[in-house]
Amino acid sequence: WENLMRFDPEAFEILSEELRRQEEGIELIASENFVSTAVMEAMGSVLTNKYAEGYPRKRYYGGCKYVDLAEDLARERVKELYNAKYANVQPHSGSQANMAAYLAVAEPGDTIMGMSLSHGGHLTHGSPVNFSGKLFKVISYGVDPVSETIDYNIVEKLAIENKPKIIVAGGSAYSRIIDFKKFREIADRVGAYLVVDMAHFAGLVAAGLYPNPVDFAHIVTSTTHKTLRGPRGGLILTNDEEIAKAINKSVFPGIQGGPLMHIILAKAVAFGEALKDEFKEYQQNILSNAKALARELENRGLRIVSGGTDTHLFLVDLNPKEVTGKAAEKALERADITVNKNTIPKETRSPFVTSGIRIGTPAVTTRGMGVEEMAKIAELIIKVIENIEDEKGNLPQDVIHEVSEEVHKLTARFPLYKGL
Ligand code: PLP
Repeated sequence: WENLMRFDPEAFEILSEELRRQEEGIELIASENFVSTAVMEAMGSVLTNKYAEGYPRKRYYGGCKYVDLAEDLARERVKELYNAKYANVQPHSGSQANMAAYLAVAEPGDTIMGMSLSHGGHLTHGSPVNFSGKLFKVISYGVDPVSETIDYNIVEKLAIENKPKIIVAGGSAYSRIIDFKKFREIADRVGAYLVVDMAHFAGLVAAGLYPNPVDFAHIVTSTTHKTLRGPRGGLILTNDEEIAKAINKSVFPGIQGGPLMHIILAKAVAFGEALKDEFKEYQQNILSNAKALARELENRGLRIVSGGTDTHLFLVDLNPKEVTGKAAEKALERADITVNKNTIPKETRSPFVTSGIRIGTPAVTTRGMGVEEMAKIAELIIKVIENIEDEKGNLPQDVIHEVSEEVHKLTARFPLYKGL
């Protein structure tokens, strides 16, 4: 970063502080990860200079010879990764992938059905404050209050009653394996398109540790930056040629202009990494770490929603310790542990306060941490939670000092981005 340091010290300072924060802290946000330096090199490359509206060999600009190769490489690799016939790697984000997918097979005013935000769905699955809730009529399903898992009978009943054009499966805070076959049967029964949003568990699918939704859904959407560990962005897959054509039109010219070619090259690099054997091992470690951390927290008196996890994430019910998600998030941040507050099933508090936190292990696993470190992290989390003084998440100074020192000692043993 010598040029940045020389020409823009103010920007350099911000970047350096963020690098330090990432290096020194314990990152437990389930949707975050640390990309490889190869992915970062592609992102920070001259491909950012190129306009390439359209698709390979059908562009609206000259000079696209090499960016065509980049997009071909990304498409071929992601098709191989998920055993899909067609891929669009241009969505700038997961939200845009979902918007393009919905508009490929439905019209504004149609009905879509998705998991409610408060039960683990994403904003783009029909929240009233999001384009999905503004453009479509929305029917939401949730989880069963006792098992805290999806009740497929309720999903089926709602689908029969409301005849949605699209059923969306997938979520941002659902820790169990989703039965895609069952979802497809329900979709077929009511003549709906099944869209699976695999953003959270895409890495697990790539490693064969979660069922592949491409085998069941009409359309699969994803982000590329969560468990998949690529640059921030989105992608769309399908096995249906007609739907693939509609998706391409829907992305461009439907909702986007020029694709981010530097990000598409970085997606190709990340897909290449995900095709390697080491990636399978990495995903396996994410799973063992998530299970271990959930167990350790449970053993120390917290409740894990649905009793555990099949994935990289889980929800913690903080009610047994009588603290809120908001206070816990703030307090943990004071001690350099990053999580996010999250609503839990049968939530009694507002989404700004909540009774839970969401925890995920993709980022700590990328650093090389294992089950032994998960036990230590659980111990530190409990120490913070048991010492919270108020709703603002204030902690006694000595607790902040002791925990953050332990956090720094732990992260120093698993360095990130050496040499940057
Ligand atoms: N879909 C799911 C399930 C997500 O969890 C997210 C992001 O958290 C998205 C879509 C949206 O992705 P983005 O933030 O890239 O728009």
